[in-house]
Amino acid sequence: MNLYSGHINKLIEELASLPGIGNKSAQNLAFHLINMPQDKVNRLANVMMETRAKVCYCKECCTLTDKEICPVCANERRNHKIIMVVEDPRDMAAYEKTGKFEGVYHVLHGAISPMLGIGPQEIRLKELLERLKGDVEEVIIATNSNLEGESTAMYVSKLIKPTGIKVTRIATGVPVGGDLEYIDEVTLTRALDGRVEL
Ligand code: ZN
Repeated sequence: MNLYSGHINKLIEELASLPGIGNKSAQNLAFHLINMPQDKVNRLANVMMETRAKVCYCKECCTLTDKEICPVCANERRNHKIIMVVEDPRDMAAYEKTGKFEGVYHVLHGAISPMLGIGPQEIRLKELLERLKGDVEEVIIATNSNLEGESTAMYVSKLIKPTGIKVTRIATGVPVGGDLEYIDEVTLTRALDGRVEL
C-alpha cells in the first residue's frame, strides 16, 4: 500500500520493524521525524550510529559497554569473588540501581529455551565457566523466574556444582514471568538477601 512517497514509506517500514512498534506508531514516528528540525534529526541519527559502532561486550562480564572493561568490573572496590548471573544488561542495571550488591555480574544475553531453539551454546556460558577458573566464592543465579529463566538456572547450577563453588538462586516471590527490570528495588533487594543455596 503506497499511501506516501517512497522515502516516507521506507521510513515507516524501518520503524515498524522495531520491537513494540506497530504500523500506526511507525507512521506517527515517521511524521514526527519529518517535522523535526534537520539538526535534531542529524543528532538522533548520529547517536544511533555511534552507539551501534562503539558499544561492545565487556571482556569480563559480557555486558554492553563502550570500554574494554565495564565500570563495574573495573571497580576494585567491588567483590570480584561474588558473581551474579543475569540474562540481560537491563537486569544488571536494575540491580545496580538498588546499590545493595557489592559483587560483580555475568550477563548471559538470553536464557536457554528449547522452544525458541536457544541452546546453552547461544548464551554466554562458556565465558562464565572461564571466569570460574579464577578466585570465585559464590555464583548467584538471578535469571528471570519464568520457564526459560528457571531451566537456565538449573542448567548453570549443574555446570558449576562440580567445581565446588557455592551456587545460590535469588529468592522467588519475584512475580512469575516478570522481567527483572520491571521489579522494584525493594523486591530485588529482598530477592537477593533471601537467596538460597542450590
Ligand atoms: Zn564487566
